[in-house]
Formats: sequence, C-alpha cells, structure tokens
Amino acid sequence: MARMADLAITGARLLDGTGAPPVGDALVAVEDGRIVYAGPAAAAPPGVAKAAKTLDARGRTLIPGLIDCHVHICFDGSPDFEEFAARVTVESSRALARENLVRALEGGVTTVRDLGGVGDASLEAARAQRNGDIPGARVVTAGGVLTSPGGHAHFIGTEVSSAAQMAKEVARLHEAGAECIKIVATGGVLTRGIGATQTQFTVEEMRAAVDEAHARGMRVAAHAIGTGGIEAAVEAGVDSIEHGCFLSDAAIARMMTNPTWLVATLSAPDRISNGGDGVPEYARKKSAEVQVQHFASFARAYEAGARIASGTDAGTPYNYIGQLYYELALMHRAGMPLDRLLPAATRDAARLLGLDATIGTVEVGKIADLVLLDGDPLSDVAAYSRAAAVVQSGRVAVDRT
Ligand SMILES: [Zn+2]
Repeated sequence: MARMADLAITGARLLDGTGAPPVGDALVAVEDGRIVYAGPAAAAPPGVAKAAKTLDARGRTLIPGLIDCHVHICFDGSPDFEEFAARVTVESSRALARENLVRALEGGVTTVRDLGGVGDASLEAARAQRNGDIPGARVVTAGGVLTSPGGHAHFIGTEVSSAAQMAKEVARLHEAGAECIKIVATGGVLTRGIGATQTQFTVEEMRAAVDEAHARGMRVAAHAIGTGGIEAAVEAGVDSIEHGCFLSDAAIARMMTNPTWLVATLSAPDRISNGGDGVPEYARKKSAEVQVQHFASFARAYEAGARIASGTDAGTPYNYIGQLYYELALMHRAGMPLDRLLPAATRDAARLLGLDATIGTVEVGKIADLVLLDGDPLSDVAAYSRAAAVVQSGRVAVDRT
C-alpha cells in the first residue's frame, strides 16, 4: 500500500510556472519534500489526496516559490550605503543575513541569489540554511564581489587588477563555498566619486573570471550599467547582466545568441527615487540619470525576446528583501505582460541559477516550493504581494490562510 502523502493542497487554481493554462480545482500532493502529483483533482490517482496535512486553498492561486535573482542578504536597505558599510561588522552581518532569509520566505521568495555580502557572512548563512540549521529562503551566494581597485563597492569587495588575479580570486571564492561569481563591470550608483557608467574591467579580465568559474561549475553575474561595460561583459561570456541600464541593440542581439540573461533590478533606482530622503545627493543624482534609460532598455530587451529573470537588488536604499512583488509590478509597467511575469520569477529564474532540474515549476519530481496567493496574478500584478501561505521543500513555512 502506498504511504500517505505529507501534504495535500486542495481546491486552488494552479499556475505551474511553465506558461501552461491555469488548472482549476487543482490538487498538489507532496511526499518527502517533493511534488508527487500536480494537476486537476478530478484526474488524480485514487488516494493521492489523502495526506497527513491538508491545506484548503479554494479561492486562491497556487504558484511555484518565487525566486529573486539579485539580493544582498548582508545589507538592510539603509539609505546611505557608504555609512552602512562603514559600520557593519561580520557579526552584525551574520545576524542580518539570517533575518533576511526569513523575511524573504515570508514574502513568498523561496530562493535568492545573493550577489555580494560582507566577509564570510553570506557563505555561512547559505551553508547553515542548506544544512537545515536556520530557517529561510534557499541561497545561491557569490560570497563577496570582485571589483577593480577603487571601483564600485570596493569597500566591501575584493579589488582585482589583472586577469591572472581574477582567476585566482574566483578559485578562492569557490573554495570558500561560493556557488556563483559576481564581478563589477562598471561603476555604480552607491559609490561616491565614480561615474555609474564607467567601464572597470577589460574583456580579457572578465573572460578570466568566466573561464575559471565555468570550469568550476559556477555562473558569472556582471553588475553592468554603462553600454561599454555591458558590451565587454557580454563579449566575455558572463551568464547574466545585472541592471543593464544602458543596453545597446548590439548588446541585446549578442545576449540572445550567447545566451546572456538580463536581471534588470528596476526596483533599485525606483526605491531611491520614491523611498525617502535619506539617500546622499551623489547617489540620488546618479540614480535619476540612469532610471529613464533603465526602463527603456528593459522594454527593448523584452521586445527583442531576450532572456529575462527577476531580481530586486534588495538591500540597497529602501529596497527590502521579500518584496519581489514590487519588482514584478515595475517589470509589468516597463512592458512585460502579466502572463510572462510568472515564468520570469520562477521557471526562468531557476534556469539562470542552474536549478531548473529541481525548482522553478510545480511539476512532479520537483522540490515542493509553493506560494498560495490571494487573487489572480494573471489579471492583477498586486496579487504577488499577498502570499497567504508559503511552502518550502514540502514544509508549510508561512500560513496566513
Ligand atoms: Zn546588487
């Protein structure tokens, strides 16, 4: 006799993340943390709905756990980033990283990619979460960022000045437990005294990062705001362009053939504009300069058919973890239709992270990461802000039903 399922979610309208049409009155059954049935309740094999725990999901929409491909679990959304960076310690970062992972999960974000922390705090949090020692979202972390001497985020990252050093630092991060690599290809908004669009690394230096990372089974994310740095990073073969504020048509075309993903983080400048008045003048000014082009670049990349995954840059000013819904609303406003948002935040994000064999869709055999929403995200983007329940690895982590 088959054993009883651990969890059955009944009565929801199911959007499985693959882009397939919704399934009404669905049943999702979970055993040992994995999905054993997902589909119409009426078509389920007999007995599969019998479970140790049942979640009545009538009137709600069930989607895959959301994935935020760009967060900083060691940052807290402080408006003045340099002031924040000057006072953080590895100890305070450890505590904050743990809190942030719980907050992510509470917002329906079951997996995050952490693109640069403080000391070893991100690496430790990721390991602790993986071992089940702490609750919260699953983490794919870069550990720390690799930047140029005096370049963007130099005060929290490692400064790299040659291709040979780049390869060495990628190897060091991998050995320390990093699962992806973050390079800073251009200047940034939050670092005083440098242009946001200036190019920081040569193609050769970035290719050294890509070759070493790929040889070790890791992907490379490039922070890239200005056109020159974007084109160089794409040429070097990075796996994702983060921000991509000034995308040229040539860069978009190359991103499609490479392929290179775009994680736009439209939230980052938007939060600076709309969050409050604590952001230093130099950062507010640079942010405003990139914002209009940022939206236009995203729209052109979408229109061209580029691969897009969702990410917020949470941790930057007034930009808090667990609020992927805010990014999805901006992506929608910038031109992505409602039916494309869900794959970008689930299936496609899992592909970018290299985790699509295990997460990102509600399909038999996948890890049971699920979010139950109040409302219908296919007609109302605000539904993503109303997570009534969150299931991670088959365990009900949040239940507000
Ligand atoms: Zn970032």
